[in-house]
Amino acid sequence: MAALYLSLGTNQGDRKKALETAAKYISERIGRIVQASAVYETEPWGFDSNNLFLNQVLCIDTTLKAVDILDLTQQIEIEMGRTTKSSNGVYSDRVIDIDILLYGDICMQTERLTIPHPLMQKRRFVLEPLAEIAAHTVHPVSGKTIKELLEQTD
Ligand code: ADP
Ligand code: MG
Repeated sequence: MAALYLSLGTNQGDRKKALETAAKYISERIGRIVQASAVYETEPWGFDSNNLFLNQVLCIDTTLKAVDILDLTQQIEIEMGRTTKSSNGVYSDRVIDIDILLYGDICMQTERLTIPHPLMQKRRFVLEPLAEIAAHTVHPVSGKTIKELLEQTD
């Protein structure tokens, strides 16, 4: 059993409800939610929009393979009505985005999946909620704790 940290983001429609629905599907299909951060309201990152995001990080107990977790989270995104994908670093409004941040000590890089999430060190909207529930967890690539990574970002 390894600790899986997922980041949830939403800036379209009933955002609170989207976080709740995503958490319900995750607990039914991926594993028990052992910890949930508070919900943070943040500015869009990497694109212009008037719609603020709600962000939250969940810690899940699971034994699934990483690639199966990606399949399941992407299926949930589709079921919840996400229509647009980011491409070439162009972001857009979304009903729900579920990203895999950390999965135990796993480090992997394939065409479909990079763990730890390659942009997590730069994103306060990920590091802040993550630090709330995993301040002393070590990022397996940098060797730094989440708290240290958060202190490094401006
Ligand atoms: P973003 O999350 O950056 O807004 P998307 O949700 O559209 O972008 O994801 C783009 C692609 O990123 C997905 O199709 C997926 O294959 C890939 N990906 C690579 N690593 C991860 C990860 N750790 N978590 C989620 N998706 C990932
Ligand atoms: Mg994503």
